[in-house]
Amino acid sequence: MHEMSLCEGIRQVIEGQAEAHGFSRVAVVRLEIGRFAGVERAALDFAFDVVMRGGVADGARLEIIDLPGRATCFDCAAEVDLDDRLAPCPRCGGGRLLPVGGDEMRIKDLEVN
Ligand SMILES: [Zn+2]
Repeated sequence: MHEMSLCEGIRQVIEGQAEAHGFSRVAVVRLEIGRFAGVERAALDFAFDVVMRGGVADGARLEIIDLPGRATCFDCAAEVDLDDRLAPCPRCGGGRLLPVGGDEMRIKDLEVN
């Protein structure tokens, strides 16, 4: 379950931001998560609650922004959105796709008190 280590990374970033910008409570944490990042939502919610305990984001709300999977098709040269990493090209049906996005996971912003 890599959600736990993801949340530990998030906590480090938040604590660093808190120190740099002088806030002490975080109300909302917004994450952008690509569809191919392999993050399980329920596991992430659980890990977030556990990992944030006792820190500046203790009790903060976690909001997730889904980013689509993106790939470039070698057959029709289009850049397309994909729901599934193994799906064929939605334009030409070709199967030779190079993923160009959808693996990312980053903190979009924080609402602080
Ligand atoms: Zn194509």
